[in-house]
Amino acid sequence: MRTPINLVVLGPPGAGKGTQGVEFARRRAIPQISTGDILRDAVKSGTELGRRAKATMDAGRLVDDELMIAIVRDRLSRQDVAAGFVLDGFPRTVAQARALDGIMTGRPPLIVIDIAVPDDALVGRLARRRVCGQCGQATSVDLAPGSRCDRCGGELLQRSDDTESVVRERLRVYADATRPLVDYYSDRSSFRAVDGNQSPAEVGSALADAVEAVLADRAAARVAAEETGA
Ligand code: ADP
Ligand code: ZN
Repeated sequence: MRTPINLVVLGPPGAGKGTQGVEFARRRAIPQISTGDILRDAVKSGTELGRRAKATMDAGRLVDDELMIAIVRDRLSRQDVAAGFVLDGFPRTVAQARALDGIMTGRPPLIVIDIAVPDDALVGRLARRRVCGQCGQATSVDLAPGSRCDRCGGELLQRSDDTESVVRERLRVYADATRPLVDYYSDRSSFRAVDGNQSPAEVGSALADAVEAVLADRAAARVAAEETGA
């Protein structure tokens, strides 16, 4: 089996975490786990979780740590993550990051990639974002001037939290609660930042290169440790 890749994709709302995470996971044939998608599915199907999360999401705030940690702990206990996974939207707070480190004890270490995008690019991106109601593919009104998904023909919708006022709140919450995670992870050898202010294809190859670089470092460290007899 290939080395499991346990990848966390960090970045502000609108950085392209979802698009990149889905594509990376598809190529590697590993599950992509988006806590935003899990919550939106719960809202759609009207479960207890969905009822608890809806108002918080519509306000652009964060669902509580305890609940999110329980969801991710449960998801990462399933067998299909043995070959690796891509986590998008979690962790979003330092408390979530600490809990994730606990969950990962005894497993292949996380690879953390931050998709960095300047703030002033994000508001416009999110306002122009549309999501296919049928297959979930995200696109931009710039690329899809019609109202149909180019992959499946489904109807393109705007997420209820992509309106300008909610976007501003999400960016504020990101700056407060989530950006500190860059510091939390940045001194690890498995952390890399990639420039998210380029085309999706370019971000995708930068992301794939960054993951390969971390794996190469890890392999080199293993060889060095063997040579010193450690
Ligand atoms: P974005 O496009 O902003 O990255 P997501 O789809 O990841 O958005 O998440 C949408 C909303 O779901 C968030 O604004 C938040 O309310 C909730 N959410 C998702 N993941 C988490 C998490 N790990 N902790 C708390 N709230 C979360
Ligand atoms: Zn579609």
